[in-house]
Amino acid sequence: DDLITKIAAGEVVERPASVVKELIENSIDAGASIIEVEIENGGISLIKITDNGHGIEKDDVEIAFLRHTTSKIKNEDDLYNIRTLGFRGEALASICAVSKVEMITKTKDDLTGTKIYIEGGEIIDKIECGAPDGTTIIVKDLFYNTPARLKFLKTPSREAMIVSEIVQSLALSKENISFKYKNNGKIVFATKGDGNLLNAILSLYGRQVKDNLLKIDYEENDIKIEGYIGNNALGKNNRNYQTLFINGRLIKNKTINAAIENVYRSYSTSDKFPFYVVKIIMNPQLIDVNVHPTKAEVKFQNDQEIYRLVYKALQNAFATTAS
Ligand code: ADP
Ligand code: MG
Repeated sequence: DDLITKIAAGEVVERPASVVKELIENSIDAGASIIEVEIENGGISLIKITDNGHGIEKDDVEIAFLRHTTSKIKNEDDLYNIRTLGFRGEALASICAVSKVEMITKTKDDLTGTKIYIEGGEIIDKIECGAPDGTTIIVKDLFYNTPARLKFLKTPSREAMIVSEIVQSLALSKENISFKYKNNGKIVFATKGDGNLLNAILSLYGRQVKDNLLKIDYEENDIKIEGYIGNNALGKNNRNYQTLFINGRLIKNKTINAAIENVYRSYSTSDKFPFYVVKIIMNPQLIDVNVHPTKAEVKFQNDQEIYRLVYKALQNAFATTAS
């Protein structure tokens, strides 16, 4: 039983970055306006997330962790199914099965908070304590009880890079939330959370990108296309600085990318890949959700129409500044 829980946890908790993603999404779900993320040793030794969200009611703290992961897993097929279901309600249970977790949480209405300590999925301690409103969760020694998983990880600095990419993309997707991100005690970036995407981009990438950023702001047929595009002033000639969100979800899509890059190339003298952050808001029913959920890819019912709209949005942006 214990073994099965660990195997299942390994399926959903692939690496430090997947823990960070799940925990930040929980903070976002809790309505937080401030989220602090801290990692040490690539997130393997420590992941700490603090939010000012609504917290968890005293009576619900244990329930939040101890969802019946195991009752859903009876064979390998079920294990696969959990992944395809998007493992809703499984994140905390999975994380605490393969690490040492401490959580301190308090709701606004309660005078005191709860501190709970869980090791390898087992509750070791639970006490009432003083705490600020919101939730702090500390994940230590990831995969300490699953050596095979630990071995599979890349170097701490590589794992830290993967975590950074996740935190960056979440900070860009939620420009109204203030993110602070620390790696090995050093602040990597902090965003204001003032609802301004440009400010968030500058907080992440610094002044280098500022001078050549062009604003994208277009709407047609109830499809909104917003964001910024510019020369890649940040380093290598690759697509590392291209961020695309559809309805708030980070995705990759060849059609949209082609539209963006084609317009960019017709206006720019640079032969590098452009830097961009683009957000598309559209009716989810026009998107084919029948793609693998762990691969951040989507299909559109009408690919040509999306290409046309994105192309036009970009052309608009370039034409406006050219005139
Ligand atoms: P899910 O997010 O799919 O419900 P999780 O295992 O990630 O499953 O979390 C379980 C529950 O714990 C959540 O539904 C939520 O009620 C509670 N929870 C987790 N993290 C937080 C948080 N940072 N703030 C408030 N509640 C939280
Ligand atoms: Mg969750």
